[in-house]
Amino acid sequence: MKIGIIGAGAVGSATAFSLIMTGVAHKVVLVDMNEKKALAEATDIGHAAPFASAAKIKSGTYADLKECSIVIVTAGANQKPGETRIDLLGRNVKIFENIIPQIVQNAPDCILLITSNPADIMTDVALKLSGFPKERVIGSGTVLDTSRFRTLLAYYLGVSAKSVHADVLGEHGDSEVLVWSNAEAGTLTLEEYAQDVGKTLDEAKKAEINDSVVNAAYKIIEGKGATCFGIAGALTQICRAIGNNDYSILTVSSHHTDVEGIKDVCLSLPTVINRRGIHHVITPKLAAQEHAKLRMSAETMKDHTEKALAMISQKS
Ligand code: NAD
Repeated sequence: MKIGIIGAGAVGSATAFSLIMTGVAHKVVLVDMNEKKALAEATDIGHAAPFASAAKIKSGTYADLKECSIVIVTAGANQKPGETRIDLLGRNVKIFENIIPQIVQNAPDCILLITSNPADIMTDVALKLSGFPKERVIGSGTVLDTSRFRTLLAYYLGVSAKSVHADVLGEHGDSEVLVWSNAEAGTLTLEEYAQDVGKTLDEAKKAEINDSVVNAAYKIIEGKGATCFGIAGALTQICRAIGNNDYSILTVSSHHTDVEGIKDVCLSLPTVINRRGIHHVITPKLAAQEHAKLRMSAETMKDHTEKALAMISQKS
């Protein structure tokens, strides 16, 4: 599968490395306004490739995106310490107005996979700017947050993260919703599993895990200036599901006509992915409190999306 990546910064280069080393892509094209940086990253990653796969990577221009099955957009401003994802909106809408039409022109049949923050709103912006059907405009959404949630639970409970079924839904950001009510390890609820292995999973422990998941990016950015490996893993998993046509259920973001009564918003719900992109969106079973939190998350997305889409129409 040929995959294009726009933005050769921390996220773009880590993702290119992951796609090449796992063999999920057989060809990667890195495009960045900083051509020197894209060339340097592609050259460096290309030197690692022979240790893992026969995959090839090059830097290039938008014209090199021809025949890409997926184009991942990571270009844009990233959070500085103390900034929220939503603070990036104005800057990244402008960047998307430049990028998205050039992708559409050169790879009209690709699936767009959006990562630049605020990721859900930028997914809606990409949907509008591309004119693609909504099945082909996917946001990385809370795939990363779901992994953070499962990883923390797995460490605490002493079980593989692959055996923990627990999702984060809603915004990839401050209003995201950790779904505790139907989370499982094996066939047991998390509370039953915890009891089985002599651990306490009370409200205080849940609040601690909740806080660690929601604030993970802030802490990583404080320490190293950017997050990149977790999101690279998440993007690789989404590309794998598309390339293998495997109908995986992932908490990607996409456009929904109605979430908890809020119309036309992008956010994450459990979603079946196949080679065409979004195959089916699942309406999750939630506790009353989780329904209310998901509605609040949808409201937050709606407010900011309206502002973002107005920024586009003002210019055109
Ligand atoms: P970075 O600054 O390291 O890289 C951004 C790259 O985009 C730079 O190389 C820059 O030259 C390029 N760029 C900027 N404008 C461009 C344009 N018009 N055309 C082509 N290239 C352009 O940033 P990063 O740490 O890689 O983060 C990138 C984005 O991803 C940010 O918005 C960040 O918040 C977001 N992010 C999202 C997630 C997620 O889970 N969705 C996780 C981490 C980061």
